[in-house]
Amino acid sequence: MSLEEASAPTDDKIRCDACPVMCFIKPGAVGACDRYGNVDGNLVRVDPHVVLDRTISHGGELVSFAGPREWDGDILHPPGTFVTAIGAGTTYPDYKPAPFIVSSEVDGVDMVTVVTEGIFSYCGVKVKIDTDRFLGPETATVRVEGEAVGHVTSGEYGSQMLSLGGVHHLTGGSKKEGRVTCDALLQLCNGKAVELTIDGGESVVVQAGKPPIVNGVTETRMRVGCGSATIGIFAKQWHGKVDEVVVVDDHITGVLSEHQAGKLLGMPPTGLKMKGRRSTPGRYFQVAQPGTGWGGTNISDPLTILGPFDPKVAYPGLRLLMVSTTGEHAAYYELDAGLQPVEMAMPERLLEPVERIAENCEPALSTVLFIGGAGGSLRAGVTENPVRLTRSVKDALTYVTCGGAPVYIWPGGGITFMVDVTRLPENAFGYVPTPALVAPLEFTLRLSDYKELGGHMDYVQPLSELARDGRLKLPQRLDNPWPLAPERMRRSHG
Ligand code: SF4
Repeated sequence: MSLEEASAPTDDKIRCDACPVMCFIKPGAVGACDRYGNVDGNLVRVDPHVVLDRTISHGGELVSFAGPREWDGDILHPPGTFVTAIGAGTTYPDYKPAPFIVSSEVDGVDMVTVVTEGIFSYCGVKVKIDTDRFLGPETATVRVEGEAVGHVTSGEYGSQMLSLGGVHHLTGGSKKEGRVTCDALLQLCNGKAVELTIDGGESVVVQAGKPPIVNGVTETRMRVGCGSATIGIFAKQWHGKVDEVVVVDDHITGVLSEHQAGKLLGMPPTGLKMKGRRSTPGRYFQVAQPGTGWGGTNISDPLTILGPFDPKVAYPGLRLLMVSTTGEHAAYYELDAGLQPVEMAMPERLLEPVERIAENCEPALSTVLFIGGAGGSLRAGVTENPVRLTRSVKDALTYVTCGGAPVYIWPGGGITFMVDVTRLPENAFGYVPTPALVAPLEFTLRLSDYKELGGHMDYVQPLSELARDGRLKLPQRLDNPWPLAPERMRRSHG
């Protein structure tokens, strides 16, 4: 249903009040977000509400949310059941209590979990792409379908970083920019692949937990370290097998004989001259332009980063290995009578040391962290005095999870959290066309603390009384901590 259709009242339509769009939904149809439907005149959340069960065996894999599953007939019982916010629904306006406020007794402690599908106008994703290859200049705009959805941010060790979404792209640009941004975030958070193009840079397909695809080529290796670190790690293994090694890296290219690692091994100078800016002995910056060639530079012929050898030091027959930080590129040279490097077949003795670099590379992956701020609406659904929830989270009295997955809460004001999207069940995120993302959020705390912070005590319902109809039981991932363990929450009174 289009947003316009959804906003038009007729007699047999019912009104959804779960978000500011306030759709009118005709019988048998769903609202603009595909989350709520009109079933026989009743407003229903169409996806099943997910509960996690830690007694079901599983391998810590990402759990599929899609597809029908039969309920096994068990009632919901503590302490092995955790009620997530996935499929729980949203409340609007802010003061309404959260859709489910569920109590249970765990290890003799009365606990409560408040769950809601939060609507996040202030949210985005941080994307870490394990590759040396240059994807685009810092601050360059990242686009989907030609629309600006984010930017390139500071690179990290062996990874390129993108910051996508955020309130400015969701609300501050054109309608299309907001819609495309919201859709790109939704796809990424739900584990789908999204193709991104970067102004002045490359095209990259990103999917959480999968290797990035740069310009159509799947990245396989994350470098072992920068050029200098690679020298430091492998110097001993090269010693005696070659006279000089250059590890080509867009950031810090290493030269073995000059590097402290070579010096300590007693390696003599070779008269090799590097282009670029010398930082410290054996460590060079800016030997070439960034690109998708050797070591994240734009070069395909490594000799282009060398100056002439010093005739006072170099000698015919000098053996030179040039290699990239992933071992993906490697070439062997010997100097001729005119001190010119001549490429030769890689000697047997160097095959293993080059292979060792590749062996030490980790698989290249794309990582997607959702970041959102749990603002007024969410907090008012938990307590009538929202700042107390913020304090309770900061004081570690309240444990916050996103679809049952652990989150990182930023220090400072507010409840700004990050979560690795691969730790949630698939398709746990939704959207509303305001546009904003919908993310599950659970607050778990002792019932006594909940009362103290002004919780909606009249709406607390025991877990055992929660109807099992319309609920989907999924196994708890082994690598996610069990959110209901009372020891996760600090005690409020000593
Ligand atoms: S967009 Fe979805 S949540 Fe919002 S009013 Fe429409 S159906 Fe309800």
